[in-house]
Amino acid sequence: MGTPVPPIDESLLRGFAFTCRPECGLCCYATPAVDVDERRRLLTLDAATPFETEDGAWDQIGARPDGGACHFLTDAKCRAYGLRPFPCRTYPIHVHVGTRPQATLVLACPGLSLAPLDAWSARPAAGPPRGLEVELAAARTEYLSVPVNSWIDEGRRSERMLLKRLARRGGAIEPELVRDSLRNSPLAIDLEGGVRLPPPGPETPISELPLFEDERLGIVVLRGNEEDEYELLKVRETGGAPESLGQFPAIEPVPSLDPAALRRLTGYLAYLLDRDAFLWSTYQELRTGAPEPLAAGLASLRDATANEVVVRASVRARLRGGDGIRLTVEDLDRGIRAMDGDLLDRPTMGRVL
Ligand code: SF4
Ligand code: SF4
Repeated sequence: MGTPVPPIDESLLRGFAFTCRPECGLCCYATPAVDVDERRRLLTLDAATPFETEDGAWDQIGARPDGGACHFLTDAKCRAYGLRPFPCRTYPIHVHVGTRPQATLVLACPGLSLAPLDAWSARPAAGPPRGLEVELAAARTEYLSVPVNSWIDEGRRSERMLLKRLARRGGAIEPELVRDSLRNSPLAIDLEGGVRLPPPGPETPISELPLFEDERLGIVVLRGNEEDEYELLKVRETGGAPESLGQFPAIEPVPSLDPAALRRLTGYLAYLLDRDAFLWSTYQELRTGAPEPLAAGLASLRDATANEVVVRASVRARLRGGDGIRLTVEDLDRGIRAMDGDLLDRPTMGRVL
Protein backbone atom coordinates (compact mmCIF):
# COMPACT_ATOMS: atom_id res chain seq x y z
CA MET A 1 0.00 0.00 0.00
CA GLY A 2 1.35 3.45 -0.90
CA THR A 3 1.78 6.38 1.51
CA PRO A 4 -1.62 7.95 2.26
CA VAL A 5 -2.25 11.24 0.51
CA PRO A 6 -2.49 14.21 2.92
CA PRO A 7 -5.82 16.04 2.84
CA ILE A 8 -5.98 19.49 1.28
CA ASP A 9 -5.59 22.25 3.86
CA GLU A 10 -8.83 24.18 3.36
CA SER A 11 -8.46 26.69 6.20
CA LEU A 12 -8.02 29.63 3.81
CA LEU A 13 -11.57 29.10 2.54
CA ARG A 14 -13.17 29.51 5.94
CA GLY A 15 -15.81 32.18 6.32
CA PHE A 16 -15.99 33.13 2.63
CA ALA A 17 -19.28 33.22 0.71
CA PHE A 18 -19.45 32.81 -3.07
CA THR A 19 -22.16 33.49 -5.62
CA CYS A 20 -21.03 33.44 -9.23
CA ARG A 21 -22.10 36.34 -11.43
CA PRO A 22 -21.97 34.52 -14.77
CA GLU A 23 -22.23 37.72 -16.82
CA CYS A 24 -18.79 38.70 -15.48
CA GLY A 25 -16.75 36.02 -17.34
CA LEU A 26 -13.41 37.06 -15.81
CA CYS A 27 -12.28 33.48 -15.14
CA CYS A 28 -12.70 32.63 -18.84
CA TYR A 29 -9.91 35.02 -19.86
CA ALA A 30 -7.62 32.13 -19.18
CA THR A 31 -5.84 29.12 -20.62
CA PRO A 32 -7.17 26.29 -18.48
CA ALA A 33 -5.12 23.12 -18.13
CA VAL A 34 -6.65 19.90 -19.45
CA ASP A 35 -5.90 16.23 -18.90
CA VAL A 36 -5.84 13.65 -21.67
CA ASP A 37 -9.54 12.77 -21.38
CA GLU A 38 -10.69 16.37 -21.23
CA ARG A 39 -8.56 17.16 -24.26
CA ARG A 40 -10.07 14.29 -26.22
CA ARG A 41 -13.64 15.29 -25.33
CA LEU A 42 -13.04 18.93 -26.22
CA LEU A 43 -11.61 17.90 -29.60
CA THR A 44 -14.72 15.84 -30.23
CA LEU A 45 -16.81 18.95 -29.60
CA ASP A 46 -14.56 21.21 -31.68
CA ALA A 47 -11.78 19.69 -33.78
CA ALA A 48 -10.18 23.13 -34.15
CA THR A 49 -9.57 23.55 -30.40
CA PRO A 50 -6.05 24.97 -30.01
CA PHE A 51 -3.81 23.51 -27.29
CA GLU A 52 -0.51 24.74 -25.85
CA THR A 53 1.94 23.05 -23.52
CA GLU A 54 3.65 25.09 -20.85
CA ASP A 55 6.81 23.69 -19.26
CA GLY A 56 5.80 20.27 -20.48
CA ALA A 57 3.53 19.95 -17.44
CA TRP A 58 -0.01 20.25 -18.77
CA ASP A 59 -1.74 20.91 -22.02
CA GLN A 60 -3.75 24.09 -21.88
CA ILE A 61 -6.53 25.43 -24.07
CA GLY A 62 -4.68 27.91 -26.27
CA ALA A 63 -5.14 31.61 -25.68
CA ARG A 64 -6.56 34.11 -28.12
CA PRO A 65 -4.02 36.89 -28.77
CA ASP A 66 -3.48 39.93 -26.51
CA GLY A 67 -5.07 38.42 -23.42
CA GLY A 68 -8.35 37.49 -25.16
CA ALA A 69 -10.67 34.90 -23.68
CA CYS A 70 -10.55 31.13 -23.89
CA HIS A 71 -11.30 29.61 -27.28
CA PHE A 72 -14.70 28.43 -26.01
CA LEU A 73 -16.00 31.76 -24.73
CA THR A 74 -18.46 33.20 -27.25
CA ASP A 75 -20.61 36.21 -26.40
CA ALA A 76 -19.70 35.73 -22.74
CA LYS A 77 -20.92 32.09 -22.68
CA CYS A 78 -18.92 28.87 -22.57
CA ARG A 79 -19.60 26.66 -25.61
CA ALA A 80 -18.12 23.69 -23.77
CA TYR A 81 -19.77 24.17 -20.39
CA GLY A 82 -20.65 20.51 -19.81
CA LEU A 83 -17.11 19.49 -20.82
CA ARG A 84 -15.20 22.33 -19.20
CA PRO A 85 -11.90 21.17 -17.66
CA PHE A 86 -11.13 21.00 -13.95
CA PRO A 87 -9.65 24.51 -13.41
CA CYS A 88 -12.99 25.90 -14.61
CA ARG A 89 -14.89 23.57 -12.29
CA THR A 90 -12.86 24.56 -9.22
CA TYR A 91 -12.52 28.33 -9.78
CA PRO A 92 -12.34 30.51 -7.64
CA ILE A 93 -10.58 27.82 -5.62
CA HIS A 94 -6.90 27.45 -6.40
CA VAL A 95 -4.92 24.49 -5.00
CA HIS A 96 -1.20 24.89 -4.58
CA VAL A 97 0.97 21.89 -3.73
CA GLY A 98 4.29 22.92 -2.20
CA THR A 99 5.38 21.15 0.97
CA ARG A 100 1.67 20.44 1.56
CA PRO A 101 -1.53 20.82 -0.46
CA GLN A 102 -3.25 24.12 0.28
CA ALA A 103 -6.46 25.56 -1.15
CA THR A 104 -6.86 29.31 -1.43
CA LEU A 105 -9.27 31.68 -3.17
CA VAL A 106 -8.65 33.88 -6.18
CA LEU A 107 -9.92 37.12 -4.69
CA ALA A 108 -10.08 38.79 -8.10
CA CYS A 109 -13.38 36.91 -8.53
CA PRO A 110 -16.20 39.39 -7.93
CA GLY A 111 -18.47 36.58 -6.76
CA LEU A 112 -16.55 36.39 -3.45
CA SER A 113 -17.31 38.68 -0.56
CA LEU A 114 -14.07 40.08 0.88
CA ALA A 115 -15.49 40.92 4.33
CA PRO A 116 -13.93 37.81 6.00
CA LEU A 117 -10.52 39.39 5.41
CA ASP A 118 -11.22 41.96 8.12
CA ALA A 119 -10.61 39.54 10.92
CA TRP A 120 -7.88 37.56 9.19
CA SER A 121 -4.99 38.93 11.25
CA ALA A 122 -6.48 37.13 14.25
CA ARG A 123 -7.18 34.06 12.10
CA PRO A 124 -10.61 33.24 13.52
CA ALA A 125 -12.43 29.98 13.06
CA ALA A 126 -15.08 31.68 10.96
CA GLY A 127 -17.04 28.62 9.89
CA PRO A 128 -17.11 26.67 6.64
CA PRO A 129 -17.25 28.46 3.28
CA ARG A 130 -20.68 28.97 1.72
CA GLY A 131 -21.57 28.55 -1.93
CA LEU A 132 -18.32 26.75 -2.79
CA GLU A 133 -19.49 23.15 -2.27
CA VAL A 134 -19.45 22.17 -5.95
CA GLU A 135 -16.08 23.80 -6.61
CA LEU A 136 -14.55 22.23 -3.51
CA ALA A 137 -15.83 18.78 -4.44
CA ALA A 138 -14.30 19.18 -7.92
CA ALA A 139 -10.97 20.25 -6.42
CA ARG A 140 -10.90 17.26 -4.03
CA THR A 141 -11.69 14.81 -6.83
CA GLU A 142 -9.05 16.23 -9.13
CA TYR A 143 -6.50 16.28 -6.33
CA LEU A 144 -6.79 12.54 -5.89
CA SER A 145 -5.96 11.98 -9.55
CA VAL A 146 -2.50 13.63 -9.50
CA PRO A 147 0.78 12.25 -8.06
CA VAL A 148 0.47 14.32 -4.89
CA ASN A 149 3.11 12.59 -2.79
CA SER A 150 5.81 12.99 -5.42
CA TRP A 151 4.90 16.67 -5.80
CA ILE A 152 5.18 17.12 -2.03
CA ASP A 153 8.55 15.32 -1.92
CA GLU A 154 9.76 17.61 -4.68
CA GLY A 155 8.43 20.65 -2.77
CA ARG A 156 10.21 19.62 0.42
CA ARG A 157 13.47 19.09 -1.45
CA SER A 158 13.21 22.52 -3.11
CA GLU A 159 12.44 24.23 0.17
CA ARG A 160 15.34 22.51 1.98
CA MET A 161 17.77 23.50 -0.76
CA LEU A 162 16.62 27.09 -0.77
CA LEU A 163 16.73 27.46 3.02
CA LYS A 164 20.25 26.02 3.03
CA ARG A 165 21.33 28.50 0.41
CA LEU A 166 19.79 31.36 2.38
CA ALA A 167 21.42 30.13 5.60
CA ARG A 168 24.82 30.40 3.94
CA ARG A 169 24.03 34.07 3.36
CA GLY A 170 22.98 34.44 6.99
CA GLY A 171 19.32 34.82 6.18
CA ALA A 172 17.50 31.58 6.76
CA ILE A 173 14.70 31.49 9.27
CA GLU A 174 11.96 28.90 9.44
CA PRO A 175 9.16 30.00 7.09
CA GLU A 176 6.46 29.75 9.79
CA LEU A 177 8.47 31.96 12.17
CA VAL A 178 8.96 34.51 9.43
CA ARG A 179 5.26 34.54 8.65
CA ASP A 180 4.32 34.89 12.32
CA SER A 181 6.67 37.78 12.89
CA LEU A 182 5.40 39.60 9.80
CA ARG A 183 1.73 39.14 10.61
CA ASN A 184 1.93 41.78 13.31
CA SER A 185 4.83 43.86 12.07
CA PRO A 186 4.24 47.42 10.85
CA LEU A 187 3.31 47.85 7.24
CA ALA A 188 5.14 50.33 5.04
CA ILE A 189 2.48 52.10 2.99
CA ASP A 190 4.86 54.44 1.27
CA LEU A 191 4.03 55.15 -2.31
CA GLU A 192 6.99 57.45 -2.70
CA GLY A 193 9.50 55.10 -1.14
CA GLY A 194 11.35 52.09 -2.40
CA VAL A 195 8.57 49.58 -1.94
CA ARG A 196 6.37 50.93 -4.72
CA LEU A 197 6.37 48.78 -7.81
CA PRO A 198 6.61 50.71 -11.08
CA PRO A 199 3.70 50.02 -13.44
CA PRO A 200 4.45 47.11 -15.76
CA GLY A 201 6.04 48.56 -18.92
CA PRO A 202 4.05 49.11 -22.12
CA GLU A 203 5.81 46.16 -23.74
CA THR A 204 4.47 43.69 -21.12
CA PRO A 205 2.13 41.20 -22.81
CA ILE A 206 -1.45 41.53 -21.57
CA SER A 207 -1.52 37.80 -20.87
CA GLU A 208 1.08 38.37 -18.11
CA LEU A 209 -0.93 41.04 -16.31
CA PRO A 210 -3.75 40.63 -13.78
CA LEU A 211 -7.09 41.13 -15.51
CA PHE A 212 -10.08 42.27 -13.50
CA GLU A 213 -13.71 42.96 -13.98
CA ASP A 214 -15.12 46.47 -13.88
CA GLU A 215 -18.88 46.53 -13.31
CA ARG A 216 -19.41 49.03 -16.12
CA LEU A 217 -16.49 48.44 -18.49
CA GLY A 218 -16.12 44.65 -18.50
CA ILE A 219 -12.75 42.92 -18.47
CA VAL A 220 -9.88 45.38 -18.15
CA VAL A 221 -6.22 45.55 -17.24
CA LEU A 222 -3.79 48.22 -16.01
CA ARG A 223 -0.43 48.63 -17.69
CA GLY A 224 2.20 51.39 -17.63
CA ASN A 225 2.64 53.77 -20.58
CA GLU A 226 5.80 55.54 -21.81
CA GLU A 227 5.37 58.24 -19.10
CA ASP A 228 5.19 55.63 -16.33
CA GLU A 229 1.51 56.40 -15.80
CA TYR A 230 -1.11 53.69 -15.54
CA GLU A 231 -3.19 53.13 -18.63
CA LEU A 232 -6.51 51.28 -18.43
CA LEU A 233 -7.07 48.88 -21.31
CA LYS A 234 -10.22 47.02 -22.25
CA VAL A 235 -9.50 43.48 -23.33
CA ARG A 236 -11.49 41.90 -26.19
CA GLU A 237 -13.10 38.51 -25.88
CA THR A 238 -11.87 37.49 -29.33
CA GLY A 239 -8.36 38.88 -28.70
CA GLY A 240 -6.63 41.62 -30.67
CA ALA A 241 -5.30 45.01 -29.66
CA PRO A 242 -6.97 46.20 -26.45
CA GLU A 243 -8.79 49.55 -26.38
CA SER A 244 -7.30 52.36 -24.27
CA LEU A 245 -9.80 53.79 -21.76
CA GLY A 246 -7.62 56.47 -20.19
CA GLN A 247 -4.38 57.37 -18.45
CA PHE A 248 -3.87 57.77 -14.73
CA PRO A 249 -0.85 59.79 -13.58
CA ALA A 250 0.95 59.14 -10.29
CA ILE A 251 -1.09 59.96 -7.22
CA GLU A 252 -0.42 63.22 -5.41
CA PRO A 253 -0.77 63.34 -2.47
CA VAL A 254 -0.40 59.74 -1.33
CA PRO A 255 -3.91 58.27 -0.82
CA SER A 256 -5.14 57.76 2.70
CA LEU A 257 -7.29 54.86 3.87
CA ASP A 258 -10.28 55.23 6.15
CA PRO A 259 -10.21 52.89 9.19
CA ALA A 260 -12.39 50.22 7.51
CA ALA A 261 -10.17 50.25 4.40
CA LEU A 262 -7.03 49.95 6.51
CA ARG A 263 -8.55 47.00 8.39
CA ARG A 264 -9.39 45.29 5.09
CA LEU A 265 -5.89 45.87 3.71
CA THR A 266 -4.25 44.59 6.89
CA GLY A 267 -6.44 41.49 6.77
CA TYR A 268 -5.63 40.93 3.11
CA LEU A 269 -1.92 41.04 3.82
CA ALA A 270 -2.32 38.55 6.65
CA TYR A 271 -4.22 36.32 4.21
CA LEU A 272 -1.44 36.72 1.68
CA LEU A 273 1.18 35.61 4.19
CA ASP A 274 -0.87 32.53 4.98
CA ARG A 275 -0.82 31.49 1.33
CA ASP A 276 1.86 28.99 0.47
CA ALA A 277 1.79 30.25 -3.13
CA PHE A 278 2.91 33.67 -1.85
CA LEU A 279 5.74 32.20 0.22
CA TRP A 280 6.87 30.16 -2.75
CA SER A 281 6.84 33.10 -5.11
CA THR A 282 9.09 34.86 -2.57
CA TYR A 283 11.44 31.90 -2.83
CA GLN A 284 11.38 32.31 -6.57
CA GLU A 285 12.30 35.99 -6.27
CA LEU A 286 15.05 35.24 -3.74
CA ARG A 287 16.43 32.56 -5.98
CA THR A 288 16.68 34.83 -8.98
CA GLY A 289 17.02 38.29 -7.39
CA ALA A 290 19.51 40.09 -5.17
CA PRO A 291 20.67 38.20 -2.05
CA GLU A 292 18.17 38.87 0.71
CA PRO A 293 17.13 36.91 3.80
CA LEU A 294 13.74 35.27 3.73
CA ALA A 295 12.17 37.66 6.27
CA ALA A 296 13.30 40.74 4.33
CA GLY A 297 12.20 39.24 1.01
CA LEU A 298 8.76 38.37 2.30
CA ALA A 299 8.34 41.76 3.99
CA SER A 300 9.31 43.69 0.88
CA LEU A 301 7.00 41.61 -1.30
CA ARG A 302 4.18 42.12 1.20
CA ASP A 303 4.75 45.89 1.36
CA ALA A 304 5.09 46.22 -2.40
CA THR A 305 1.80 44.37 -2.73
CA ALA A 306 0.14 46.68 -0.20
CA ASN A 307 1.28 49.69 -2.17
CA GLU A 308 0.16 48.19 -5.43
CA VAL A 309 -3.30 47.49 -3.99
CA VAL A 310 -3.55 51.12 -2.84
CA VAL A 311 -2.41 52.47 -6.22
CA ARG A 312 -4.92 50.29 -8.05
CA ALA A 313 -7.69 51.19 -5.61
CA SER A 314 -6.96 54.86 -6.25
CA VAL A 315 -7.02 54.44 -10.03
CA ARG A 316 -10.33 52.60 -9.83
CA ALA A 317 -11.79 55.25 -7.49
CA ARG A 318 -10.81 57.96 -9.99
CA LEU A 319 -12.34 55.94 -12.77
CA ARG A 320 -15.62 56.14 -10.87
CA GLY A 321 -15.40 59.91 -10.53
CA GLY A 322 -13.76 60.10 -7.09
CA ASP A 323 -10.55 61.96 -6.22
CA GLY A 324 -8.65 58.72 -5.52
CA ILE A 325 -7.07 60.31 -2.46
CA ARG A 326 -9.35 59.21 0.38
CA LEU A 327 -10.10 55.55 -0.05
CA THR A 328 -13.04 53.66 1.43
CA VAL A 329 -13.31 49.93 1.99
CA GLU A 330 -15.23 49.58 -1.30
CA ASP A 331 -12.34 51.29 -3.11
CA LEU A 332 -9.87 49.04 -1.35
CA ASP A 333 -11.81 45.93 -2.40
CA ARG A 334 -11.53 47.06 -6.01
CA GLY A 335 -7.77 47.44 -5.51
CA ILE A 336 -7.50 43.92 -4.11
CA ARG A 337 -9.54 42.47 -6.98
CA ALA A 338 -7.37 44.32 -9.51
CA MET A 339 -4.26 42.75 -8.02
CA ASP A 340 -4.98 39.34 -6.62
CA GLY A 341 -5.01 37.28 -9.83
CA ASP A 342 -1.38 38.24 -10.34
CA LEU A 343 -0.22 36.80 -7.07
CA LEU A 344 -1.44 33.37 -7.94
CA ASP A 345 -0.22 33.51 -11.53
CA ARG A 346 3.38 34.17 -10.60
CA PRO A 347 5.97 31.51 -11.27
CA THR A 348 6.26 29.37 -8.19
CA MET A 349 8.34 26.40 -7.17
CA GLY A 350 5.25 24.55 -6.01
CA ARG A 351 2.80 22.82 -8.35
CA VAL A 352 -0.60 24.22 -9.13
CA LEU A 353 -3.46 21.82 -9.39
S1 SF4 B 1 -14.78 35.36 -12.07
FE1 SF4 B 1 -16.09 34.61 -10.41
S2 SF4 B 1 -18.05 35.73 -10.61
FE2 SF4 B 1 -16.92 35.97 -12.54
S3 SF4 B 1 -17.74 34.31 -13.84
FE3 SF4 B 1 -15.86 33.54 -12.85
S4 SF4 B 1 -16.55 32.49 -10.98
FE4 SF4 B 1 -18.27 33.78 -11.71
S1 SF4 C 1 -13.61 26.03 -21.06
FE1 SF4 C 1 -15.44 27.29 -20.80
S2 SF4 C 1 -15.54 27.69 -18.59
FE2 SF4 C 1 -13.44 27.05 -19.07
S3 SF4 C 1 -12.28 28.94 -19.46
FE3 SF4 C 1 -13.03 28.15 -21.43
S4 SF4 C 1 -14.95 29.26 -21.75
FE4 SF4 C 1 -14.48 29.42 -19.59
